[in-house]
Amino acid sequence: MDKNVPQGVKLGSKDKHKEAAVDLVRSAMKSGVIDSALLPMEVPSGDSYAWMLIKDEAFLAKAEPFAPTMPVNAANAVKRLTRKGTGKYKTAVLIRPCEVRAAVELVKLNQAHLDDLLLITYDCVGAVPTDDYIKDPAGKNKAFKTALVSGNFNSGIMKEVCSFCTDFSRTSSDLHLSLTDDGIFLSSNNVKGDDFLKNMKLEAKADLSKWYEKIESISSVRKNKKVQIFEKIKKDVDGLINFHKIFENCIGCHSCGSVCPICYCRQCFFDSTVNEQNSDLKFIRARQKGVLSFPPDKLMFHIGRLSHMSLSCVSCGLCSDACPVDIPVASVFSYVADQTQSAFDYKSGNSVGDALPMRDYKLEELGELGELSKSVDRQEGADA
Ligand code: SF4
Ligand code: SF4
Repeated sequence: MDKNVPQGVKLGSKDKHKEAAVDLVRSAMKSGVIDSALLPMEVPSGDSYAWMLIKDEAFLAKAEPFAPTMPVNAANAVKRLTRKGTGKYKTAVLIRPCEVRAAVELVKLNQAHLDDLLLITYDCVGAVPTDDYIKDPAGKNKAFKTALVSGNFNSGIMKEVCSFCTDFSRTSSDLHLSLTDDGIFLSSNNVKGDDFLKNMKLEAKADLSKWYEKIESISSVRKNKKVQIFEKIKKDVDGLINFHKIFENCIGCHSCGSVCPICYCRQCFFDSTVNEQNSDLKFIRARQKGVLSFPPDKLMFHIGRLSHMSLSCVSCGLCSDACPVDIPVASVFSYVADQTQSAFDYKSGNSVGDALPMRDYKLEELGELGELSKSVDRQEGADA
């Protein structure tokens, strides 16, 4: 058997996703293996979901671990829960693979701590765009559940980025839920996962090779699809004129940055007083170009955001969801992220242990400047 193929423990039948996940969390809370859970719950209006930190197990019945839509990336909830440290409570988080990868990036950026969290991923069939969901919650709920139960990873109702996502299954979580035709299976992904299974007295013995083959085969089809989609995006965005065209309808609301789990600055430069210019400067810019559009710096905002975070972009699609003028922000950012991450042989969210390029670097990588810095160090050592 391939050494990557995990063994699992069956939690329930294939049409009982919610029950299997909620029962697992409930029994872990009852036995004291975890203290709380962070799960999505439907909002009272019934057309969206919010992340809830559940301490009283009575509320678990209202949780919707497999929410059809993703108005907030769970990594944002993880960040708000743990930025100042994890505290003393152990919390289970049922999370999409792109969300766990964003959380891993936030750890590297010193914005989140995962030590006391137990991250449980599942085979993700995608997420319905927020706008589509709000228009027809009942219809989209039904279609999503059908996709989940039948294991349809190509349902046409999901976000565009989901259709070419190759990391939709077991990823950098502690535990994973495999959704198979024979039922739902829990498997461990690391030592933390092993400890959980041991503490819960669960034995992972079921062979998951059939499930593994299916995931590998979908992944390889998607890899090809991604190449085709990126070829098309390349034609649309390459070069300043094309890039400008894509963002020409941008109204400068910065919602795409606000919802992005990776865009973590508490004060964005473009919204800060530092970026405010008096009217004389505006006139100078207008004179130089002949004309100045308002709000100004719309393109600079996107270029600035790309240069800051494309190495960590996890293609969750939230930026497109948030855009009020339907700019395909996530497709553009995913395309650029693919280029920047490949340039550094880096993959966002793979492992907390992977050094994040531009943040962690060796002096050798700085060329002449690095050599200069080394020689200053040597000189200072000799002088000491
Ligand atoms: S840029 Fe868009 S797709 Fe990438 S992580 Fe941020 S919200 Fe998600
Ligand atoms: S959400 Fe859309 S309109 Fe708003 S800043 Fe981003 S791209 Fe521009």
